[in-house]
Amino acid sequence: MNAIRKVEVGGDAAYAIEIGPGLLDDGARLSRALRGRHALIVSDGNVAPLYLQRVEASLHAARPDLSVGRFVIPPGEHEKTLARFGQCLDALAALGATRDACVIALGGGVVGDLAGFASACWMRGIDCVQVPTTLLAMVDSSVGGKTAVDLPSGKNLVGAFHPPRAVIADTAALRSLPDRELRAGLAEVVKYGAIFDATFLDWLEAHAEALLARNDDALAEAIARSCRYKAEVVARDPFERGDRAMLNFGHTFGHAIETEQGYAGTTGDGLNHGEAVAVGMVLAARLSSALGRAPAADAERLQRLLERFGLPTAIPPGLDPQALLARMRLDKKADAAGLRFILWDKAGAARIVSGIGDDAVLATLVA
Ligand code: NAD
Ligand code: ZN
Repeated sequence: MNAIRKVEVGGDAAYAIEIGPGLLDDGARLSRALRGRHALIVSDGNVAPLYLQRVEASLHAARPDLSVGRFVIPPGEHEKTLARFGQCLDALAALGATRDACVIALGGGVVGDLAGFASACWMRGIDCVQVPTTLLAMVDSSVGGKTAVDLPSGKNLVGAFHPPRAVIADTAALRSLPDRELRAGLAEVVKYGAIFDATFLDWLEAHAEALLARNDDALAEAIARSCRYKAEVVARDPFERGDRAMLNFGHTFGHAIETEQGYAGTTGDGLNHGEAVAVGMVLAARLSSALGRAPAADAERLQRLLERFGLPTAIPPGLDPQALLARMRLDKKADAAGLRFILWDKAGAARIVSGIGDDAVLATLVA
């Protein structure tokens, strides 16, 4: 059964996430949120040759009156820049985009963040439809309204909260995704189970093979459940002033690893984001049990599941624990009392904990 799954995101700017195979060919669905006569498709050099023409054809069939432009960037995190953002706005100007125009983000999180930010700024904000093509973008970056570009001084430093008008996730597009990108997305999927729902971890354990084989129905179920967890916390805390920060489980350690290796993962030399988060989640789980907050068996269970997905669970050799600790202290997550972490009481139940001492963190890093 390949039913289309639908997840509603509530709050002031409600929208729906639709998930299933073949949605890129469904012009009626793709164009449902389009109010005006202009649409700009933003994509990248890997995704555009695979899917851009198909999306254009679907849109044209459903809405022959629509004037559709395209803006294609080279692939990679290093393209998520203010310069590309400016070019995206120029493309909207060239299209003659008016206030009822729509930006369609067709790609992974890089395209989604850049296109989302351009839509947040063009004429002080126009509609954006997210059409994510990586698993990470389907379960994380396309949902929740955070948009941004990077600066030389740091990632995601310029951006806006700008929820999409709709999210349309075609699971069939994941068939062309490199294995490593699929696994990186699975790390974020596991994260939702780890912090919100141990029964989702049971489900992932039972469906690991189907997910790795890219079975449409298993993928759609994993994406829908992930989006539901994220939607709930985003609706409660749209601007990340409180418990939306729970989504950072594994990310304090993960970011330290990513920055310490100079974001080598974006060039393929080091851990990518999802891989760093996989290691970070195991460390956060171990720190929780070292502090007597959670059963050690749960940390081991999390590690085994991540390993089944082919994800790393140990700090890469050569990274200095002291240097990682120093990174975490710089990462806005420390105050005078100590570091702040998302820890868990047990699998499926996490909380934000401040005032963790350096000694405990260091002991986890060297263990
Ligand atoms: P990405 O966009 O770089 O995509 C990964 C790679 O896969 C790229 O080379 C891309 O060209 C390729 N690709 C995409 N779809 C494909 C497909 N279907 N077939 C073949 N190749 C395909 O990376 P990502 O992991 O999707 O996203 C990472 C970005 O998302 C980062 O910039 C991160 O900051 C951002 N992010 C944002 C949020 C948010 O809330 N806004 C949340 C998490 C991550
Ligand atoms: Zn993440």
